[in-house]
Amino acid sequence: MDYGRILKEYYQGKPKEECGVIGIFKNDSGLSKYLYYGLYTLQHRGEESAGIAVSDGVRTDYHKAMGLVPEVFSEEILSRMKGNVGIGHVRYSTTGESYAGNSQPLVVRYRGGSIALAHNGNLVNTEKIRNRLEDDGVVFQTSIDTEVIVNLLARYSNEGTINSITRTLDLVKGAYALVIMKENELIGVRDPLGLRPLSLGKFPDGGYVLSSESCAFDVMDAELVREVEPGEIIHITKDGLKSIQYKKLEKRASCIFEYIYFARPDSVMDGVSVYDARRNAGRILAKEHPVEADLVAPVPDSSIPSAIGYAEVSGIPYGDALMKNKYIGRTFIQPEQSLREIAVKLKLIPFRENIKGKRIVLIDDSIVRGTTSRRIIHSLKKAGAKEVHMRISSPPVVGSCYFGIDTPHRKSLIAATQNVEEIRKTIGADTLGFISIDGLTESIGTDKDRFCLACFNQDYPMNVDAEHEKNGNGSPTTFNRLGGGY
Ligand code: AMP
Repeated sequence: MDYGRILKEYYQGKPKEECGVIGIFKNDSGLSKYLYYGLYTLQHRGEESAGIAVSDGVRTDYHKAMGLVPEVFSEEILSRMKGNVGIGHVRYSTTGESYAGNSQPLVVRYRGGSIALAHNGNLVNTEKIRNRLEDDGVVFQTSIDTEVIVNLLARYSNEGTINSITRTLDLVKGAYALVIMKENELIGVRDPLGLRPLSLGKFPDGGYVLSSESCAFDVMDAELVREVEPGEIIHITKDGLKSIQYKKLEKRASCIFEYIYFARPDSVMDGVSVYDARRNAGRILAKEHPVEADLVAPVPDSSIPSAIGYAEVSGIPYGDALMKNKYIGRTFIQPEQSLREIAVKLKLIPFRENIKGKRIVLIDDSIVRGTTSRRIIHSLKKAGAKEVHMRISSPPVVGSCYFGIDTPHRKSLIAATQNVEEIRKTIGADTLGFISIDGLTESIGTDKDRFCLACFNQDYPMNVDAEHEKNGNGSPTTFNRLGGGY
């Protein structure tokens, strides 16, 4: 067997994640290093490409490439990039192909200067706007929806920064957390439903930072001030910070999957610790789906807090059933059938000595297509586990996401076509229990109406264009997961 070829095939597949954005306004010669460390902290949100743009008030410089943050930037590059304002981005594509030209920040020059933009999220009406702009003779250099935003910003730039942004936002529809940089300005924007997260932080010695997640503040000794509100524009200049509420909706629809899987557990989102939310979910799961067993074990890493919570309430000892190889990306491209077993073994290895003859409660954060659970249960049983009781800290995923989360098309979602008992049989578990929607929202401790729960109930917070749905944008075809997460 050609192991070299097998490994190459596996590692060719770039990990599939969302995106992370960061923006800093700070009079400090080390600005680009702050951006670098911030992006490093947000690496789990996108492992495909990374980029930073800075401005010293006159000149805008940027560097971006495919790869992980430490692969993209060197000491030399960072020391070259000087300025008082800068933005950064880590990317996994939910729209647009995977190539360097699609990486961010996007930097454009227009008559009055330059604009740099980094976007987390997914727009649902870009095709229409793009067609209109192309009819007008505009040429596009990338296939990402972010370029539409930057084009509109440049087009309206003579109306001033805030007007150009509000005019642009009047046209675009979907999920976005944006950081925008002009020569002497940093702007942060969150979509009116608050679908994608964005936090505001402050440096004790002056200056501000915007980030997808608050965990990036800790690394640079900044303090979390608050969340950027849905529909809010934060405008930072040398004169300080201004907040503009450009749209206020009754409804709010923050993405609940951030709490379940994406965010780092040490982040605080909308005032809630992600770690606490996951641990609470485990506690509630133990009440909703109790079972007699010898060991509660997580599918590492995203399920660790929930497994701790489950063990606390059930009184069953917590321990490891699976060892994770930390040097493998979080996901792979779909390999040939014959190679799949090896991929699973490379990433998650059963802890033979811990599990032999035991009844295990295995906690995972989600079942999407069902392949991960099936493979893991199979490998645990093969390694000697007596029973595997699967407990999932999110409800069954029945709807695709069009707002930036990488879920496959509905037809590939196991819970869209099978009931719980059928899923149990398919994945080979002795018993299976999902947390309820009410249990999940209770675990976060805030009002149920604050969240987008469309992946669990198909109640989408906005109409998704038929055309978009047909094309399956936002639902990549190379989707394949082998467990993991944060
Ligand atoms: P599946 O094999 O499709 O059922 O995938 C479920 C596994 O993928 C779980 O272990 C999750 O931790 C992980 N997961 C859930 N959502 C995502 C996502 N959007 N991207 C990558 N992995 C995910």
